Amino acid sequence: MIIALDGPAGAGKTSTARAVAKGLGYFYMDTGAMYRAITLAVLNESESYSEVDAARISDAVSVDVRYIQEQMLVLLNGEDVTELLRTPWINKHVSTVSSFKAVREKLVDIQRSVARHMIDEGYGVVVDGRDIGTVVFPEAACKFFMIASPEVRAQRRYDELLGQGKPADYDEILQNVNDRDAIDSGRDVAPLRQADDALVLDTSTMSFKEQVSQVINTVLERQEQHDV
Ligand code: C5P
Repeated sequence: MIIALDGPAGAGKTSTARAVAKGLGYFYMDTGAMYRAITLAVLNESESYSEVDAARISDAVSVDVRYIQEQMLVLLNGEDVTELLRTPWINKHVSTVSSFKAVREKLVDIQRSVARHMIDEGYGVVVDGRDIGTVVFPEAACKFFMIASPEVRAQRRYDELLGQGKPADYDEILQNVNDRDAIDSGRDVAPLRQADDALVLDTSTMSFKEQVSQVINTVLERQEQHDV
């Protein structure tokens, strides 16, 4: 069974998806990390890239995922780059690189084949991203669209960074959240959009625990009703 969790930057998808996967004994696939890995490959060559450059680089590199103790690792050309993907440098470029058709086609193929493998092995998978319920897995059994105001999302990210002892600038984070939302929603290929059959979760006023239980309970109800 596939659970799709889509929504804008910083809506809490990753942490929710991870906890839901753990609670249900499913695998978690972080598709944003895969787009970040291609962005890293592009930036390693040059910061002034065109769509043609990004397509060439994306075609030349290999992106794989591995699971170690429930953690998804992203391998770029066989090297574990997971810890290098959540930086302001990548945040600044990832939405532009992700708007390119060749990049999306490559990663969507990989996402589908990873999920197919898990399902064939008898596992469920929670997938988070921007186009999971609309494009990658329109057949997903349960779809959620997580939203919160840009200010709430930026504040959460700011608190998270401070909590990790990392430097953080609220205005810069808010700017990046707004920039990424605009590019992700406005692109031609697979824009960020709520699937018609997705349940909207407005997390502005929900605790983390509430978000996770709402998703898990909805999935269990669907299973009970033999809907899925
Ligand atoms: O989820 P995360 O914030 O790590 O995603 C980083 C970026 O990757 C997004 O802002 C978006 O540009 C891109 N992305 C995408 N489609 C997905 C997942 C992520 O375009 N399915």
